[in-house]
Amino acid sequence: MEERDQLRERFRRTLSAFRLRRNIASITGVAAVFLSWYALRRVPDGGDLFWIAAVVVVCITTGIANTMPRCPLCDSRLHGRLGHFCPNCGAAELAPGRLGVPYCSACRTYMTGMKGRRRYKIRACTWCGLMLDETGL
Ligand SMILES: [Zn+2]
Ligand SMILES: [Zn+2]
Repeated sequence: MEERDQLRERFRRTLSAFRLRRNIASITGVAAVFLSWYALRRVPDGGDLFWIAAVVVVCITTGIANTMPRCPLCDSRLHGRLGHFCPNCGAAELAPGRLGVPYCSACRTYMTGMKGRRRYKIRACTWCGLMLDETGL
């Protein structure tokens, strides 16, 4: 039990670092869009700057996606494919429900939503069931 607490503590730090990076990335993204919009209006050759800003935003977004936190116990990706455990409540109750959408009978949640539009919270690792963060990601 103690080991799990340590893992959770480690994950908490990873998660807060990740949240910080994500916030910085979104601020940078907004700033880049503003700058290029400004450049397009003020600078005669602002088109170049617009493309530079676009590339910067894409790079940052990809970089953030690659640093998504992993499970500290089994090193699985927490985003993407679902395992046997419910990411919402950590119960091993995940099974294909209606239309093949994974359904957890423990917390009565459908794991719907594509990338970036999740309807559920990631609180536990879907591969080993370790409870990671009560607030969820
Ligand atoms: Zn559940
Ligand atoms: Zn895991």
